[in-house]
Amino acid sequence: MKSFAEAARGFMPPDEGEALFRAASEVAVDGPLLEVGSYCGKSSVYIGAAAQTMGRVLFAIDHHRGSEENQAGWEHHEPGLVDQEIGKMDTLPIFRRTIHDAGLEGTVIAVVADSPTLGPVWTTPLAMLFIDGGHGEEPARRDFECWTPHVAIGGTLCIHDVFPDPADGGQAPYEQIYLPALEAGFDEVDQVGSLRILKRTA
Ligand code: SAH
Ligand code: MG
Repeated sequence: MKSFAEAARGFMPPDEGEALFRAASEVAVDGPLLEVGSYCGKSSVYIGAAAQTMGRVLFAIDHHRGSEENQAGWEHHEPGLVDQEIGKMDTLPIFRRTIHDAGLEGTVIAVVADSPTLGPVWTTPLAMLFIDGGHGEEPARRDFECWTPHVAIGGTLCIHDVFPDPADGGQAPYEQIYLPALEAGFDEVDQVGSLRILKRTA
């Protein structure tokens, strides 16, 4: 079993995390920041650290039951993250520990929710949205549909795991989020690894 600290490392390389921190530090409009897909809190720490210095908050949305690729038998499964009594993933305890250890409990607001259930009833315009939730075609499509309309004009959209070449990784974030965003009034401003940073212009 991995330790809390090891599991919290998650899947985000440092250069992409630092780019996320910069994007969050440079948001150009008012409003909170929100991420879809927090897992053990690694990306939340990068974005939350920026939010803290700006006196803003980060809503960290995750049902904490893992994506398809985190379930038993899949590539990204961590047996230590299963609630043995119910046989389901539970990353919330590790997420809380990560946010506590980072001194971000006053900044990062955990919202334990299914993304497409919450998205349609969300009302606050967002200064920044980071999408890194389910990477299947349908989950990615629904995250695009229900969250990108909440980005304020002039606001920032960050998308993780964007792989234009199928040889590099799954296509859903590229096809279901990145390409539709470019059609929907977002312009690309930066890219680092698989992270894409866009601004809403229309
Ligand atoms: N952003 C994190 C990694 C996220 S992994 C990091 O870089 O550290 C993807 C996460 O999305 C998982 O924790 C999974 O539970 C969550 N997820 C997948 N589908 C979801 C859904 N429909 N609603 C809420 N969270 C979801
Ligand atoms: Mg990711």
